[in-house]
Amino acid sequence: MEFSYRCLVCEMVNVFPGRCKDGYNCMRCKGALTPIGEAKVHKKPNTSITVDVNVDTEPLTEALELAKELEGVLARLSPHQK
Ligand SMILES: [Zn+2]
Repeated sequence: MEFSYRCLVCEMVNVFPGRCKDGYNCMRCKGALTPIGEAKVHKKPNTSITVDVNVDTEPLTEALELAKELEGVLARLSPHQK
């Protein structure tokens, strides 16, 4: 959990991991910090894996099913050919 602190000198918001601000100072001006509260660091949602899986496997499954169907159709159409 990250915690955010505002610099009392330049008003810059600093985010640090953990609640303890001992030894922390403003990254810009080294000024004293006052705690604001919890901070959530926004990360890009990692949706690419799900999207990739959906895109890559579904046509493949469909193609395999289609191939099986065609195999059955061909077998019925030409039962004596080997
Ligand atoms: Zn500052």
